[in-house]
Amino acid sequence: MTTSAQPRPTPATAVAPDPVVLALALEAPQLPDEVMQRPSVATQVGSLIAITIPFLGLIAAIILAWHTPFSWLNLALFFGGYVLTTLAITAGYHRLFTHKSYKAAPVVSVVLGVIGSMAVQGSILNWVATHRRHHQHTDRPDDPHSPHAFGAGLWGSLRGMVHSHFGWFFAKTLPREVMVKYVPDLLADRVVPRVSRWFGLWAILGQLIPAAIGFAVTGTWMGALMAWIWGGLLRVFFVHHVTWSVNSVCHLWGSRPFESHDESRNNAVMGVLAMGEGWHNTHHAFPASARHGLSRRELDVTYWFIRLLAAVGLASEIKLPPRARIEAKRRRARAS
Ligand SMILES: [Zn+2]
Ligand SMILES: [Zn+2]
Repeated sequence: MTTSAQPRPTPATAVAPDPVVLALALEAPQLPDEVMQRPSVATQVGSLIAITIPFLGLIAAIILAWHTPFSWLNLALFFGGYVLTTLAITAGYHRLFTHKSYKAAPVVSVVLGVIGSMAVQGSILNWVATHRRHHQHTDRPDDPHSPHAFGAGLWGSLRGMVHSHFGWFFAKTLPREVMVKYVPDLLADRVVPRVSRWFGLWAILGQLIPAAIGFAVTGTWMGALMAWIWGGLLRVFFVHHVTWSVNSVCHLWGSRPFESHDESRNNAVMGVLAMGEGWHNTHHAFPASARHGLSRRELDVTYWFIRLLAAVGLASEIKLPPRARIEAKRRRARAS
């Protein structure tokens, strides 16, 4: 899998314990159902707003597209914002903060944390705690967002899809004091808790910046409004649904080339749209790997981005699974 041009994992990083497994070793919690709590009303209202307002932005963009001239600026704000905020989630929230699949300079942590917050998927600490719990209990009863928790049949499948996509925001979850047990490493970090605490500010800035650029370029309030709709709302709508599809689609449809003890799948469409995160069976098989698309045919833009960071001295100790482990898991998947 590795070529001479690729960073070779040192023996130390190749065999180091998976940080997820470390996190799971905490006595965090097979807890009885009574301990689980519904999110507060304020949190549920916040989730509802975060889901519906970007959808209204989609409707507004479609309607206004018929009444306003095409704008390269708005398209660039949408596409640029999509790439930046998706990469900050995949390379930052996921591969760096959750799985520690590489080491990054503090400035990279801050930038990825701030821009990742602009994807409006919650604070770093909340996101990471939830995702580590997903890896701890994947597709079993305590998985926060498995699509396989509602039984067979059409109704069970539909409920599972909705739950895994965004319904889980409103479902019972562990109380905050338990969830923090999943992120002791991040709580001990110098910068992450500070960036995480200001999530709301970064999320609002992610809406204001495209509007400000639109106003600066066009000099009109209509220009600011359109730039906000495209670079703010529409961009968040797509980033949301692509990221959530990794939880829903990639646990339902696709191939399973590696043994992984769950229902995770490699889905090529999501591999492209989610910048490498769609190779989700590979990810569950090798959670600490910085590279999810392990073959050359499996596009993994996030991994290229991490390599780029390493090339300019901003990332190091990029973890890749040893070839023998890859082959062993591939063999066991074929045999099962
Ligand atoms: Zn998963
Ligand atoms: Zn993961």
